[in-house]
Amino acid sequence: MHINRLQELHKKTQQNNIDFYTPGGMHVFFKDRLTNDDVDVEAILAKIESKIPQHLYSEIEMIIVGWFEEFEERSINAFYDSGTIYVSNIQDDNADMYDDIVHELAHALEEVYGYSIYADEKVKDEFLRKRKHLHDILWNHGFKATLAFFTEVEFDQEFDDFLYKTVGYDKLSALLQGVFLSAYAATSLREYFATGFTEYYLDPNHGFFKKVSPSLYTKIYQLQNPDELDNY
Ligand SMILES: [Zn+2]
Repeated sequence: MHINRLQELHKKTQQNNIDFYTPGGMHVFFKDRLTNDDVDVEAILAKIESKIPQHLYSEIEMIIVGWFEEFEERSINAFYDSGTIYVSNIQDDNADMYDDIVHELAHALEEVYGYSIYADEKVKDEFLRKRKHLHDILWNHGFKATLAFFTEVEFDQEFDDFLYKTVGYDKLSALLQGVFLSAYAATSLREYFATGFTEYYLDPNHGFFKKVSPSLYTKIYQLQNPDELDNY
């Protein structure tokens, strides 16, 4: 490779790993270097701040890019904890990281807008109807698990193992098409919300989302405008 091109690449890598503040006030800190030089965190955050209204990410003070033990322990690549989003430095591309950050934003704003999201129980009712439907589909396909499993809205390891190990991700994804937006949405009520929130900012065409999860869609639509929220 030509030396100028090498220097250019080196410069790009350097620039892509320098801590910075976003215009919206988030502090981005690199604990570890990105493994992919094409991932541009500044561009990803600029996209997030242009698409998502500020009141929905005002809780986020910091984003730390790096590798964390929790990722291995829980087979995840991002998590949220008290004002900070921890996100993996191993990313396929910008879209991959955009997904991860928007998903964790959803968990962050659940804490602030929890009342508006969950108090009327519309999202929970919709989620439980889908879980019941999923139970019936799986039962008919020979995966006979007790219905009680499907009525727990919190994350449950045993149920998670049933979905991902006994049924398996590919089979589950195929069977729940048109019921849940994705297999991950069936995991718990919180993930049902987070996957919907991510979908809203991922695909500008909301037709499919509206059709599959109308109550969740309405809720996320209302979140765009703080005046429509009960606790405002
Ligand atoms: Zn999540």
